[in-house]
Amino acid sequence: STNTSNDSDRTLIDSNTYEHTLPGRVDSVDSQDDPFSWNRQNSLAATMKEWDIPFNDLHVGEAIGKGRIGTVYKGLWHGDVAIKLLDTGGSTDNEAQLAAFKLELAILRKTRHENLVLFMGACMTPPRLAIVTSFCKGQTLYTMIHLNKTTIKINKAITVASQIAQGMSYLHARSIIHKDLRTKNIFVDCGKVIITDFGLFHVTKLCRGTKKDNWLSVPKGWLCYLAPEIIRSLKAMQQSQTDLPFTKMSDLYAFGTVWYELLCNDWPFRSQPCETVIWQVGRGIKQSLSTVTAPREVKEILMSCWTFRAADRPDFAQITKALGRIPQTRLIRSPSHPCQLSRATDA
Ligand code: ADP
Ligand code: MG
Repeated sequence: STNTSNDSDRTLIDSNTYEHTLPGRVDSVDSQDDPFSWNRQNSLAATMKEWDIPFNDLHVGEAIGKGRIGTVYKGLWHGDVAIKLLDTGGSTDNEAQLAAFKLELAILRKTRHENLVLFMGACMTPPRLAIVTSFCKGQTLYTMIHLNKTTIKINKAITVASQIAQGMSYLHARSIIHKDLRTKNIFVDCGKVIITDFGLFHVTKLCRGTKKDNWLSVPKGWLCYLAPEIIRSLKAMQQSQTDLPFTKMSDLYAFGTVWYELLCNDWPFRSQPCETVIWQVGRGIKQSLSTVTAPREVKEILMSCWTFRAADRPDFAQITKALGRIPQTRLIRSPSHPCQLSRATDA
């Protein structure tokens, strides 16, 4: 059964049907049987110092918006920055969670790619935990598509999707799973794509619980990015400590949804209730593309990302190649193709 709470941004699902708690399990950082554990901890502590920004060094400006794990502020720290202040609700005394947060940041600081937001540092002294990144100008794809209803022409959609695929391919090559790829986390500024919020899903553990009694809280617009195996684990999950099984392949599924939004200016399964979406996706039923007029190659990419069996989804290198094949085939040879998606005009 479903119930819509006062908070109109969330739908609550009876946990008797779908037991799930956000966020997932945090692995113990201090592994007992790892002989190098002590060294690793020490060197971690040393490198983290380099990235530790004293909170008072930051000039915190206006709040830009609130997400699942805290509030983002525009700030100044040697130029414009975005400061994500975590909403910890005083739960930071949990040493293991704090250690997991630091470990997650240690991974983020190693990312260098032009389509990924620049991680600049973090405030790691409880109760003030904050992540400092470069400030993204431009708009998110979400704002462009769903709020401003901007029609994105196929050539621009391909360029944007290729940049997302390249950023994602880089993350995956470094064994970083995004876990939260969606149009709200993708900025476009003068045609350049910047992906944000990768690998931060565990951070939710440090933040105020989103679980309300026996209900599963599903943030609006989150469900359609979840791969069948994740959806099915929402259902099977009995213990609140079990993590959701995010993988590179679940990132691919989420990319498929982003690709759909780019092409159709809409969500898959639009205006269908949560349980209906969960039921369909869990059984391998996809959003129908029968009303979408697009070249075969465009739809093939979509369907391959949404493949039910995770192992059968392509990787981002294959996506990049497939995207590159679209213009040469249909767009250039058939400029008179009647549908808007296949017009060979520039955005
Ligand atoms: P969500 O991703 O669900 O929108 P976030 O907490 O990530 O939630 O972001 C809150 C707000 O801050 C959003 O409006 C988002 O666009 C904005 N934001 C997040 N990161 C940045 C950034 N690096 N630069 C500029 N704006 C950002
Ligand atoms: Mg975000």
